[in-house]
This record gives sequence, C-alpha cells and structure tokens, in this order.
Amino acid sequence: MRNVDSTAMRRMNKATVLGLIRSHRTTSRIDIAQMTGLNKATVSYIVDELINEKWVHEIGFGSSSGGRKPVLLRFNANGAYAIGMDVQLHSLKTVICNARGEPVYKRDSEIVHVSQPSHERLLEVIEEQARAAMTATPASPHGLVGVGLGLPGLVNANDGTVSRFPGLDFTNWDVRSAVAQRVPIPVFCDNNANCGAWSELARAPGQDSNVVYINAGTSIGTGVVMAGRLYRGRDGRAGEFGHTTVMPMGQRCSCGNYGCWEEYASERSLLRYIIEAGGDTLELEHEHDFVQRILDGAHADNRAYIRAFNTLGQHLGIGIANIANALTPDRISVGGTLSRAATFILPEIERIMKYRALSANRSIPITIANVNSVAVGAASLVLDAMLFDRSERLAEHSGAPAATLN
Ligand SMILES: [Zn+2]
Repeated sequence: MRNVDSTAMRRMNKATVLGLIRSHRTTSRIDIAQMTGLNKATVSYIVDELINEKWVHEIGFGSSSGGRKPVLLRFNANGAYAIGMDVQLHSLKTVICNARGEPVYKRDSEIVHVSQPSHERLLEVIEEQARAAMTATPASPHGLVGVGLGLPGLVNANDGTVSRFPGLDFTNWDVRSAVAQRVPIPVFCDNNANCGAWSELARAPGQDSNVVYINAGTSIGTGVVMAGRLYRGRDGRAGEFGHTTVMPMGQRCSCGNYGCWEEYASERSLLRYIIEAGGDTLELEHEHDFVQRILDGAHADNRAYIRAFNTLGQHLGIGIANIANALTPDRISVGGTLSRAATFILPEIERIMKYRALSANRSIPITIANVNSVAVGAASLVLDAMLFDRSERLAEHSGAPAATLN
C-alpha cells in the first residue's frame, strides 16, 4: 500500500507543478519550489519529466536577484488538443481547444430535422462535425485526446447518458456510446451548464474559484464550481436550480411540478410575457430562433418585446439572488440564448439583486458569458481530465468528481 501511496503522491505533485506552469505565462524551477513548498530536487525531477514529455518548454533565462539566472519555463499550449461541442436541438457549436483551453477553431452548424426532431439527425451532424474538426486539428505531441459534448437535460457524466433532452422524446439515451460508435476518439459527456461553469472558471485563472454558470435558454441549467471543482452531487446531476419552486401555485413545469424557476425565466416564458404585454406571438411560435427575432424587434423599439425581456430579467434576477444567497460564489455568469439580450435583462437582474440578495451578497458580480463557453468548457473538461487526473480518464469518468485544476 505504501508503494501505491507514493505513486499517488508523485502524480499529485506532478499535476500541481504542471498546473502552476500552465497558469503562469512564464515561471522557473525556483519559483515553483517557493509556490508549492516542494524541495528543489523534486521540482527539478518533475520539470525534467514534463520537458521530456513535451508539456513544458525552456525558453531562456530570467533576471536574477543575485546568483545564477533562472531558466524560464513555459507550458506547451500546443502539446495536445480536444474537440468541444455545444449540442442543442437545432444547432451545434464545435471548437478545437489547445491544451491551455484556448479555441483555435470554431464552427457553427444548424441541425435541420425532417418533420420530428430525432436522435439520429443529431448524431449525424455530431459525427460530420467531429470528423471535420479531427481533420482540422493541428499535429501535436499528445494528439487529439477526445471530444467533449455539452448537452442539455439531465446528463449523467459518469455513464454518459442523458434524460429529458428538451424537445426529444425519450427517457434515457446513452449518447456517449452512440457517438463513440461513430467517432474513433474518446467521448466525454457533461451537462452544458457544467461545461459553461468550467470554462468561466478558466476565464480568470487563480482569481475566482467559486463560480456559478446559468444556462438560460429553452430551459435553465446551472453549473456550480466550488473551490475549483465542479460540484456534481451524489449522482452527477446537481445544479437543477431551474426546478426550484419560485411560485407555489404557479405554471405547470415539464418536470411535473408547479411554479419552477425555469417556467418564469426561460425561452417559453418569454412568449407568455409578450402576450401579457399586449404583443402578438403568432409568427414567433414556429421559429427555432425566435429569441433573435424578439431581440431584433426589441432593438427596433417594439415595446411589448422590451417589456417581455424586462419581466424575464426580473425573474432571472429572483433566481440569481436565491443562488447568491445560498452559495455566495465569487461570480455568477449568465449564458445561453437569452444572454444575447443582456442589454435588456442585465439591468433588471442587477436591480432585483439589490432587493432580493442579502446586503453582503449584492456586490457579487453578474457577468455575461462568452458565446462559446459551453463548447470551450466541454473541450477543457476533456483536456483537464487528461492532464491532471489520468486515472479518472482511464476509468471513463467512473468516479464522481471530474477534473481537478492545480
Ligand atoms: Zn420543473
């Protein structure tokens, strides 16, 4: 057992050193020893190993405060790549990220279903775009390590299944096996909000370690990063704030309950708010991207549309204030289709926060996520699992927590 422990310890130290080198533009062996408390010989041994493995480059000498000049080290961002996908019923966003999680390729595809939306059509487009991205991936020492899928609905990251994918009729879909049969690289799945949260964490490395990402679109998903780790709960499905009750006798939700937050702050509630504001939704109801139509109208001063967005922003704000009070994260980031309406919804969210959040929590920043957050986060989860927790990757996510950073 002692042997196993020391192997685990070495792996942990190596992950720590690699994480530090990756999060700094440049660093040195001596800096790493100081930051980690590891002795210089251990650091040198690990760094040499990482150089041999082509994860780290030596890039010259730094300045010295007396004595020998330190050799500067830099993370090899082009050491490996991963594909990330933001999968939705009618669209697919594909990115390739380098080992630092920076996108080097982006592609937006529309998914056109003939008559009823189907899994098969979704799989065809995923395969087509994964293969296109595989061809476009630059050569690198560790190659293309896998494809990460950010999916809506209840996703079990451990076994790669999804249930209640909005708009598709099934109870449990083994999406990881289905994609793995079509694409010859490892496949990882996660909830789209978890992917978004992971990518938002990387946006401010070393600053925010508690981040909540809210995916506001056809439904509301939330991803929670606590102390630098994704919080998954006991079965990998934590973060369903969309189904917390905000109106005890409210609208019937798709989950069977009444008055869930997502009935008041997702795309479908927007149509209801337009009608309540005296507007007409007849032309909007059969469009996939009706949010964009409403947004264009609001920018052209359609009063009902503006009022609908304002109401939606207020309801988003109520749920966000609840989350702020419950979790006190460093930052709450809003993504998904509705975040495109930031001009109209963000001031309302901030206004509601002033009333509904406890005074100590009113200063928690609310930011709008990057449009590629989910796809980039899906790729980053694959890369980080490979870089920092090999054993977990080999087990294809059989354990509970995902990757660890630093
Ligand atoms: Zn619900």
